[in-house]
Amino acid sequence: MTSPRNIVILTGAGISAESGIATFRGPGGLWEGHRVEDVCTPEALADDPVLVHRFYDARRAALATVAPNAAHVALARLDAEWLGELLIVTQNVDDLHERAGAKRLLHMHGALRSALCAGCGAQETWTGDLPPGSLCAACGAAKLRPDIVFFGEMPYDMARIEQALAAADLFVSIGTSGAVYPAAGFVQGARHAGAETLELNLERSGGSGYFHETRLGAAGVLVPEWVEQMLAS
Ligand code: NAD
Repeated sequence: MTSPRNIVILTGAGISAESGIATFRGPGGLWEGHRVEDVCTPEALADDPVLVHRFYDARRAALATVAPNAAHVALARLDAEWLGELLIVTQNVDDLHERAGAKRLLHMHGALRSALCAGCGAQETWTGDLPPGSLCAACGAAKLRPDIVFFGEMPYDMARIEQALAAADLFVSIGTSGAVYPAAGFVQGARHAGAETLELNLERSGGSGYFHETRLGAAGVLVPEWVEQMLAS
């Protein structure tokens, strides 16, 4: 294969693990001690808004205690230096990619430092606690909620992501278990469009068999190595 020009990179919770942020399904299948369905569904938000808001308040507050690791820094360098098309699509709701300097970045599952109005759909930057009933700056309704894409909700920017996948020469998946759709299906979409596919993960993911190549290890080691290789090519 000739050197790829158009790269799409999908990242998941594993890329932030070495920064000290727990992955989605930690010990016992829990996310920070909670069942995913208790904090990550529209039903949970409707049934117990105080619990759900507090859960994301804690995740948002924890961002102040962590920093980007070598993998985020390497991807930001690739973003800055890669002359072809490049898109980083993250499933993560932390802000470590942007704090490392990445610019060509989409948060397909939302962001902790953002609030969403369930009334008018406006989004606003939010850094502190977000109690239920907080007022929307755009429409005044007391309907602000965490700007997180819950199970059953439509991820952000799907049209742009699908366009990028269709044009990709190389698709790279980093630190994701391949359990959450539609992101887990991106590898098949990219392959179908003719892209080479590479997985960088601590262990083989659910969709490992779809990748042309899998490299196993910590993102903080594998990602800087891969970026060096790309920039030297
Ligand atoms: P996941 O927890 O299901 O899978 C993480 C994957 O990363 C696993 O396959 C694991 O083996 C691998 N991994 C763990 N440590 C690693 C390391 N040091 N280097 C490389 N790989 C490592 O996470 P997912 O697939 O991203 O699940 C998606 C959902 O998790 C998203 O909806 C996302 O919003 C949510 N989430 C986000 C964060 C965050 O923003 N940092 C944290 C937890 C959950």
